[in-house]
Amino acid sequence: MSGLTLNKINKIYPNGFHAVKDFDLEIEDKEFIIFVGPSGCGKSTTLRMIAGLEEISSGELYIGENLVNNVAPKDRDIAMVFQNYALYPHMTVYDNMAFGLKMRKVPKADIKEKVEAAAKILGIEDLLKRKPKQLSGGQRQRVALGRAIVREPKVFLMDEPLSNLDAKLRVQMRAELSKLHQKLKTTIIYVTHDQTEAMTMGTRIVVMNDGIVQQVADPQTIYNYPSNIFVAGFIGSPQMNFLDGEIYEEDGEVVFKFKNNLVKLPKDKADILRQNKQINKEVILGVRPENIKNKSDCDQQSTFISTKVEVKEQLGSETYLYLDLDVKKFIARVKPTFNPEIDETIDICFDMDKIHIFDKETENAIF
Ligand code: ATP
Repeated sequence: MSGLTLNKINKIYPNGFHAVKDFDLEIEDKEFIIFVGPSGCGKSTTLRMIAGLEEISSGELYIGENLVNNVAPKDRDIAMVFQNYALYPHMTVYDNMAFGLKMRKVPKADIKEKVEAAAKILGIEDLLKRKPKQLSGGQRQRVALGRAIVREPKVFLMDEPLSNLDAKLRVQMRAELSKLHQKLKTTIIYVTHDQTEAMTMGTRIVVMNDGIVQQVADPQTIYNYPSNIFVAGFIGSPQMNFLDGEIYEEDGEVVFKFKNNLVKLPKDKADILRQNKQINKEVILGVRPENIKNKSDCDQQSTFISTKVEVKEQLGSETYLYLDLDVKKFIARVKPTFNPEIDETIDICFDMDKIHIFDKETENAIF
């Protein structure tokens, strides 16, 4: 079994900076788990504590059944892949991959078998005699992965392994890492600040901010049911739009009022707001760009909002309209066939089944 348990893990650096706060997580065997969050949120620190490269200030870390807080990195049965690959420049690809096994005095024939098997998985059989400088970025990345694979660790730790690759190669390597996870059937813990990597590869995502875990869930749950404004804004591109306003009840209808607009809420959502005592409260409404529709695609009973198109970005398969709703940025993602002019006033509606309401004080999602 190669699950991990992080029990109230904290990291306080010697200068007093509290980088990771009460990190609780059960990672199951064979999960591809992603730590994602903005720069400085504590993802790498957490990974480095798991690797044993950073001391744990308090809390318990188990790999399988074993408490490993005081176990040396080399005895933790994990392999770490860094963003700079850390390949030995004077060694061939074969020797780079074999190095760790040679150090462990694994018999030569076994090393050969393992290196060749890993090279095959990664499609780098033809590169084994080359030196790192004769390789492309993507190939080097594969060698770094190969070096980890040959060790057959229980857990792979990866810290932004794709960040040095160009955009196209990153997309390709994302798919390859997902395939690799399926082939290897081991636990992978992967750190990134890139929400697309998190969404596309993770079986579960851990969203972090300021050293605190914000939400742990599978990608679809994170996207559809973000637990607070931070997660809602961090996951999704273009990001979710937010509107400050108030909830009212008028003639039995629950409405969201912002500026001079009133948006009627469907009954199920109205009930949740009543139950949560949000009537007459200030809240924040969140709506994803794809859940904003042009009038012709709205239901008859929808509430329409008139707004001006400020900027139009035509991407071919879709168009982003920046709308003037008196907030910093409000983007609708529409079909390219809907093509209003700049400065044109258009009527839109929100897909009310897909909207989110957040408590203004706690910033937690009510739904
Ligand atoms: P990035 O994506 O930029 O790598 P991260 O989420 O991985 O960010 P960490 O590297 O874990 O962030 O750092 C978390 C916080 O701890 C940051 O504010 C960082 O400045 C701080 N930090 C990291 N190392 C030390 C250290 N040795 N001493 C003091 N503070 C540190």
